[in-house]
Amino acid sequence: MRRRKFAGGDLLIASHNPGKVREIAALLAPFGTHIQSAAELGLLEPEETGDTFIANAELKALAAATVSGRIALADDSGLVVPALGGEPGIYSARWAGPRKDFGLAMGKVQEALVGAGPDNGIPQSAYFVCALTLAWPDGHTETVEGQVHGTLTWPPRGGCGFGYDPMFIPEGYGITFGEMDPDQKHAISHRADAFRKLIDAYFAV
Ligand code: IMP
Repeated sequence: MRRRKFAGGDLLIASHNPGKVREIAALLAPFGTHIQSAAELGLLEPEETGDTFIANAELKALAAATVSGRIALADDSGLVVPALGGEPGIYSARWAGPRKDFGLAMGKVQEALVGAGPDNGIPQSAYFVCALTLAWPDGHTETVEGQVHGTLTWPPRGGCGFGYDPMFIPEGYGITFGEMDPDQKHAISHRADAFRKLIDAYFAV
């Protein structure tokens, strides 16, 4: 199928996660895109039944685009820990439980690593993945994926960012994403990597 470009204007962000919506707004600010979130429009969140980040991004973007009649952008992302067989991975949000408690989720990662054997403690390699899908109301989709690699640290450090940021040190840095100025995170994160690919390929500038 022919690649389709986003011509600008309004974009619906198919997310109810305020941390993500905030980062996406900052990343799209230079393009003068007017964004609204699915939460602001009161759209329901579809069940994430895909078994990859890409499948879930497509499912979320398509659900929002078809129900709203607008072009929608969805982000499916998470923390992949190879020593845990890729977990929490696509279940990163679910590890935080119904209260979305990421102190709890980070503790579970630490516990799982300790439980996985003596060679599996922290520091441990990990990476974040971000799949982004642009979906049109007629069902057309365009998708990219970005990553950032690093190591996990314990205990968590820093009050910036969201999710697993306080336990993740990106490669080449001595501080966690949680300790990092948001502008610095936005320059190197998995989401920044995915947005660079999305903008290069699909934004008509
Ligand atoms: P999703 O809404 O199903 O894509 O859930 C993604 C989850 O992955 C988030 O709730 C966070 O826990 C985690 N995550 C994704 N991106 C980041 C990030 O940039 N920093 C920290 N955690 C992240």
